[in-house]
Amino acid sequence: MSVLITNVGELVTNQLEPDAGAGRGGPCRFAAVTRAALVIDDGRVAWTGPASRAPAADQVIDAAGRAVLPGFVDSHAHLVFAGERGAEFAARMAGQPYRAGGIRSTVAATRNADDGLLRDNLRRLAAEMRAQGTTTFECKSGYGLTVRDEERSVALAAEVTPEVTYLGAHVVPPEFERDPGGYVDLVCGAMLAACAPHARWVDVFCERGAFGRDEAQTVLVAGMAAGLEARVHANQLGPGPGVQLAVQIGAASADHCTYLDGADVDALVGSGTVATLLPGVEFSTRQPYPDARRLLDAGATVALATDCNPGSCFTSSMPFCIALAVREMHLTTQEAVWAATAGGARALRRADVGHLGAGARADLIMLDAPSHAYLAYRPGVPLVAAVWQGGERVAGSSA
Ligand SMILES: [Zn+2]
Repeated sequence: MSVLITNVGELVTNQLEPDAGAGRGGPCRFAAVTRAALVIDDGRVAWTGPASRAPAADQVIDAAGRAVLPGFVDSHAHLVFAGERGAEFAARMAGQPYRAGGIRSTVAATRNADDGLLRDNLRRLAAEMRAQGTTTFECKSGYGLTVRDEERSVALAAEVTPEVTYLGAHVVPPEFERDPGGYVDLVCGAMLAACAPHARWVDVFCERGAFGRDEAQTVLVAGMAAGLEARVHANQLGPGPGVQLAVQIGAASADHCTYLDGADVDALVGSGTVATLLPGVEFSTRQPYPDARRLLDAGATVALATDCNPGSCFTSSMPFCIALAVREMHLTTQEAVWAATAGGARALRRADVGHLGAGARADLIMLDAPSHAYLAYRPGVPLVAAVWQGGERVAGSSA
């Protein structure tokens, strides 16, 4: 059955590929049509254009001037865990610094949780994301850090998304404190063998206090040899080798990019590696924001994601990240929306989501607002009125 959504105030379609001669803002390829319509057929976008020229369809939905956008693509989230760290957040806001080792308290809680508890928490967060307009999300392991606990983490993640990331190299667990090399061997050996069948991606936290350049490269190379594609937590807490390693190894994404030097920016520009910015982390840890303007003006491809996790950033809201990107990192509203949709798709190497070109998956959202700009203009307001995934309405009642 075909569905026509008509009388759309602003239809954001996006382009995944660069225009020749893109101006300021580099490769941002935001595109939109006003007074538009869209036809969904068989789970795909069949047609977009001016409402006055829309073809007939089996069912008609009147958007009444509201905006329709691609569903958000959240390319970085840690959703398989137990416990919470609200007290740590409160202490941090009272002046204590964030340290990577805080991950260990979540590791202890996750190891002690049964599958049912982990699954319930994961599904609750996935539903929370969908209600806020996220139609594709990535999900990492990394709070188990034993063969058994990492394997069940990726298996649980695979129940809710195809974009599963093996992050055994999140932090060295306490029992390997005196033998970090032995832990890297485990991550690249038995743990990888157990996890690879459930995962698409391999990731590593390349950071002082976590894994250095050589260890990170070892983990990524082993993962790629097992058929996984690479992504890297890079340059979050200070300058480091993570971004350039990500580019050299051909990773899909270098995530965080909070501390970049000129060579890091040069490496990203023109590479196949997306710079994924996670401004919710800087918000929640009171760190300086990444220099997004420098990346965009240099021509790097930028994605926005939540990094939803119980420690450094416990938001699942892409609209919140868009508002932060506009207000705090000086993205235009168009750049921010592109980064949260098509940028995320690029970071996951997906051509079927993040845009509403003909043939794309019919993953889309309707806002209770006339334009995409309201996502930043009305921060904190739940504007996502309806959500479609693969052509099926999964949240909201739009008409
Ligand atoms: Zn992360």
